[in-house]
Amino acid sequence: MRQWLNPILNGLNGVSGPVTIYFRDDDGGWADDRLLPLLDLFDSLCVPMDLAVIPMALTAELASQLRQRIETHRQVLGLHQHGYAHFNHQSSGRRCEFGDQRLFLEQYADIAAGRQLLNEAFGPYSEPIFTPPWNRCTQETVAALNELGFRALSRDISAKPLATGKLSEIPVHVDWSGKFRRAERYPFPLGKRIAEAIQQSAQVGIMLHHQRMDGVERQLLAALLKVLSSHPKVNLALMNEILS
Ligand SMILES: [Zn+2]
Repeated sequence: MRQWLNPILNGLNGVSGPVTIYFRDDDGGWADDRLLPLLDLFDSLCVPMDLAVIPMALTAELASQLRQRIETHRQVLGLHQHGYAHFNHQSSGRRCEFGDQRLFLEQYADIAAGRQLLNEAFGPYSEPIFTPPWNRCTQETVAALNELGFRALSRDISAKPLATGKLSEIPVHVDWSGKFRRAERYPFPLGKRIAEAIQQSAQVGIMLHHQRMDGVERQLLAALLKVLSSHPKVNLALMNEILS
């Protein structure tokens, strides 16, 4: 079962310097029954995790759970904004909440309202980082984020370049639940993908979707986290640590 990790170990042996790896789990507010065991897993292994929270999906109960985890358990957990309602506004084409069919003011209003909800729920734990749903947004989104004082935008590494100005980009490189691995679980094909990302970049973001991860997948992830957290060349970080 651990064989899928071999390409990653080989990849780490092949790089000269340290590699910073961060985990971004999307869609906080949906499927809490799968989110909480994932949070427990990261907590039990003391590995940092960033949760992208959908403001309109966040319940008071989940907000209180997340705050408690940071304050009481001292869980290394980052919280930031994932769109507003995770609603597709495009009438055709690829799904997008902040796409080309929305004006600057519409995007600005949604992002500002979402930011306020997260600030009310999390106070200082709400971070000025924005992950657009489906990893897609436009130049108008960037303008709104800059105006609202956000510090970073997180999309897929393959996303169309945007003129981000003062806004930093913290991309994700690997989609744990992507198409390339749904086809077969055994042998688990993510080892090669993660190894490639490690060879190409000294900072690697891994995107998770807790609602698509069952107990077997969480075990696979646990094995990966154990290997990474004990490897001398790996620095496991929160996204906001990449910013500073
Ligand atoms: Zn999402």
